Amino acid sequence: MAFEGLTERLQKTMEKLRRKPKVTDADLRETMREIRLALLEADVNFKVVKDFVKTVQAKATGAEVLKGLNPAQQIVKIVNEELTNMMGETAAPLNKAPHIPTVIMMVGLQGAGKTTTAGKLALKLKEEDQARPMFIAADVYRPAAITQLQQVADSIDVPVFEMGTDVDPVEIVRQGMTQAAIQKNDYVIIDTAGRLQIDEALMDELVKIKELTHPNEILLVVDAMTGQNAVNTAEGFDDQLDITGVVLTKLDGDTRGGAAMSIRAVTGKPIKFVGEGEKMENLDVFYPDRMASRILG
Ligand code: GDP
Repeated sequence: MAFEGLTERLQKTMEKLRRKPKVTDADLRETMREIRLALLEADVNFKVVKDFVKTVQAKATGAEVLKGLNPAQQIVKIVNEELTNMMGETAAPLNKAPHIPTVIMMVGLQGAGKTTTAGKLALKLKEEDQARPMFIAADVYRPAAITQLQQVADSIDVPVFEMGTDVDPVEIVRQGMTQAAIQKNDYVIIDTAGRLQIDEALMDELVKIKELTHPNEILLVVDAMTGQNAVNTAEGFDDQLDITGVVLTKLDGDTRGGAAMSIRAVTGKPIKFVGEGEKMENLDVFYPDRMASRILG
């Protein structure tokens, strides 16, 4: 599972602190040093770590925590609060359009889990909101992409609008939106093309689709296993598209997890969902406070 190494190290540090009858300034400094190393080791962005340590240290010192009762416990509480803040404070719900359809654009690099996540999200909307979503297949560069979306869609009984691979994706989306209006679908989920890396042609196309549809959500799907690349990808997509949220996939994998924890702090954009498995049911709303507690163990 993600965060195992980090949890273990943080627990050790906190345990050491708890055993001290009195926590001195030197103890606090040592604790902060260990936390800093643990976060860096877990691949949390170095700048995010720096700010985090500074804040925790200031709170622990400023509030006269060390002189109070149970200083160790209070420091754990501060660390928990700041981990929560780092990841976004509260859960960020999906934006909804005042009039149907709500348009959700799924973007991300190839293999991040875009198509799978589109399916998971549609299923969630169907089950929790009794929604009637429709997919638009706008990835025309890999013939297998449309087939894959179709398979995902069939498994959850959601219609797909597709025009094969010979039509311009922007035109496909335009016609798909008309189709959704006729069918009165309340959600349109656009599966856009992924690339191995961010390139201008990909971004231009995404910008055009954005301008055409004015999406309520531009969800960037990132693979938590890709470490700092996930952070760089998020910055790149956000610069070009002004994304509305992030979905972190593959958190069930053996990732150190720190990069994922940094995305919110680096981009300012909320993590809205996490994927923790390949099945259609494996998509959860992201709660920063629960994640912080899980990390602290
Ligand atoms: P796309 O190229 O971005 O559309 O990526 P896909 O949706 O095709 O996903 C790529 C691979 O990642 C597939 O094998 C998925 O089953 C897998 N995948 C997606 N999300 C998750 C997840 O949360 N956990 C795990 N373990 N695998 C995932």
